[in-house]
Amino acid sequence: MENNKAVITFSIVVPVFNEKDNIFPFYERTVKVMGELHEPFEIIFINDGSRDTTLDVLALLHQKDKRVKVIDLARNYGKEIALTAGIDYSSGKAVIPIDVDLQDPPEIIPRLAEKWKEGYEVVYATRESRQGESWLKKLTAAMFYKVIGSFVHINIPPNTGDFRLIDRKAVDALKELRETHRFMKGLFSWIGFRQTGILYQREPRFAGNTKWNYWKLINFAIEGITSFSNIPLRLATYLGLIVSLCALLYGLFFFITTLIIGNPVPGYPSLLVIVLFIGGVQLFCMGLIGEYIGRIYDESKQRTLYFVRDKIGFNDTP
Ligand code: UDP
Ligand code: MG
Repeated sequence: MENNKAVITFSIVVPVFNEKDNIFPFYERTVKVMGELHEPFEIIFINDGSRDTTLDVLALLHQKDKRVKVIDLARNYGKEIALTAGIDYSSGKAVIPIDVDLQDPPEIIPRLAEKWKEGYEVVYATRESRQGESWLKKLTAAMFYKVIGSFVHINIPPNTGDFRLIDRKAVDALKELRETHRFMKGLFSWIGFRQTGILYQREPRFAGNTKWNYWKLINFAIEGITSFSNIPLRLATYLGLIVSLCALLYGLFFFITTLIIGNPVPGYPSLLVIVLFIGGVQLFCMGLIGEYIGRIYDESKQRTLYFVRDKIGFNDTP
């Protein structure tokens, strides 16, 4: 068929970074589940600059099954960009981003598809439990969703990763957003459309280690907030106002006490405290402004989001 856009129903989009041991188990479970749906599908793996034998495993898999397609990115761009690349090259009527480590069980896909058939354009999968994750990760995740919920005016469902089903209409909308700082969970919600969620049990990682550490997670949280909200900038204004007010009150207090009881000890400690405090607030506010200026700088370059070294299994470009 000259145009395969019409024939594929499901595009499963899987970013992979050093995941050689997960690919086969993931493939087997996914194909089994997709077989039950009796609809044509493709699995697009995006090799995000893996340094192990991930690419060889993927090429092998494509030899075995032509429904497996591979995009080999020029380097490691991070999951958000890898996901974007996969979505760009997908041709299905519905696109399903999923992790390769089997934390998002493919067995959920039929339930997503069911909701899609009911007419929803985005069906996201919300985690009911997080097995194999430490209490610290659970706590910080909960805090993250709380903070982002109060800062950002779009409705980002809590405990929901990138695992979801997106209708072609919403995918086309998503493809229009080419910003460099991509907080995908935010973008998925920002586009709108009819959205709904289902609950599922998140499983522990099958093999290998998570690519996240706390440093990355903190940066991810800053990314999420500053990409979708200007409130932190206003925070700087409020903080400045409050501190100035405190300083004024303190000055007044000082003035009155000096009038009444005099000033027996020169105010060296209080001076130091005030100087340090104001200095801290100023640095904090400059940091905030810097975050946004950095973003303006990055976006103004309008760089291409990613470069593709190789494509396996694609006849035509998107
Ligand atoms: N991943 C990626 N590029 C990266 C980091 C991760 O493509 O730079 C992929 C990874 O291979 C996996 C998914 O993103 O399929 C989720 O990564 P991970 O399991 O490390 O994250 P977690 O589940 O701990 O949030
Ligand atoms: Mg994982």
